[in-house]
Amino acid sequence: MSNLFYQGRGRKPVLDQARGVYMWDKNGRRYLDGSSGAMVCNIGHSNENVLAAMRRQMEKSTFGYRLHFETEASETLARRLAGKMPEGLDRVFFVSGGSEAVESALKLARQHALARGAPRRWKVISRRPSYHGCTLGALAVTGYAPLTEPFAPMMQQMPMIPAPRAYLEGFDPTARETGQHYADMLEARIEAEGPESVLGFILEPIGGASTGALVPPPGYLERVRAICDRFGVLLIADEVMTGAGRTGAFLGGDHWGLRPDILVMSKGLGSGYAPLGAMVADRRLVEPVLDAGGFAHGFTYAGNPLACAAGLAVMEEIDRQDLCANAAAMGEILLARLGGLMQRHEIIGDVRGKGLLTAFEFMSDRATKAPLPKHLNAHQRFVDIAYDRGLIVYSRRTRDGLEGDHVLVCPPLILNGGHIDELIDGLDGALAQLTQEIAPAMEA
Ligand code: PMP
Repeated sequence: MSNLFYQGRGRKPVLDQARGVYMWDKNGRRYLDGSSGAMVCNIGHSNENVLAAMRRQMEKSTFGYRLHFETEASETLARRLAGKMPEGLDRVFFVSGGSEAVESALKLARQHALARGAPRRWKVISRRPSYHGCTLGALAVTGYAPLTEPFAPMMQQMPMIPAPRAYLEGFDPTARETGQHYADMLEARIEAEGPESVLGFILEPIGGASTGALVPPPGYLERVRAICDRFGVLLIADEVMTGAGRTGAFLGGDHWGLRPDILVMSKGLGSGYAPLGAMVADRRLVEPVLDAGGFAHGFTYAGNPLACAAGLAVMEEIDRQDLCANAAAMGEILLARLGGLMQRHEIIGDVRGKGLLTAFEFMSDRATKAPLPKHLNAHQRFVDIAYDRGLIVYSRRTRDGLEGDHVLVCPPLILNGGHIDELIDGLDGALAQLTQEIAPAMEA
């Protein structure tokens, strides 16, 4: 019996060490990390340069409270990060994770509305399905029923519009009209809510855990930006998963030249070396809030020098190894190879993604897009089968958390062709095993 508890009571092997794209448990079993943990370890495990930078920082100081000191580590990282942001986004607020970054963005948006004399603006529209974090504020903009429903009485659920799941809903994912169709739902929703009550719109440029690497249709993000501008609604980009090179560009939104008003990052920013997240905001938003008395928000660990030193060294590795370019190149190969698996395995109904944020979705019928029977819990079973074969992947229910199954394949960005072969072999075997296991249920 362990003193730990997470989802349930199941025990996991004890982690011993991790290097590059591999992890080993205490029994000496090796795993290929096909999901970078939870899409976190972008630069791979145990990078010597990051460890050395953290050691250097530890020898100087491990903590300086943000209201007492600025630190070189946080100041340098903020400058480096601002240099990678869309024009105008250069005010950085560090936190320890994605949920904290989302909370910070929601609160900055609200305080900005108050500072500019628009106190009736408080609604932040989001999409369904979506995931923006597990704290109650971030959960209020999360469209994923199993995670939100238990807490519904304790929070103000925000308005939602459908995520642009063209592949499921019979639209051509490559057509501009599709992008327009889904973006126009935002306009309709803002009008229905009353534009003067709408504070912001939050979205992941490329969908992560909830939608499974959902790439938006052409024109979608551009039109969303234009609609937000028309109604004075702040656009918040949740790049917690898509940031730090994951999709083959430093930011997911960079593929479309997206310019949000506030952007949040975490995961790959610290790459698992330290808990780190950031909210980056347009200076034109931050200045009025500071003029009005300051940002009434903050976490004790904000700007922790050790976490920031790790983040800075991670950023240097992303640049030094040109990991955005590698993610783009390897991602293309990986996506094509996943397409090959779809040809071999009937249970895969869709393959999608960008860079090394890729996914496949199980379906019982490709034509009708019918999901696999829910009781099979196929996504979880698939993860367990792959795990037993030494391959780590990440999965979720795909249709608002209620049914459907997708599997995210998101290895570290240091991936090479040999790793892809190994990954595809592992997936191939696991898919064959799952197909065989569920055959009796499918025939019934
Ligand atoms: N936003 C997105 C898009 C995420 O994927 C996640 C984590 N999966 C979060 C926010 C919350 O991040 P954290 O778990 O670090 O609080």
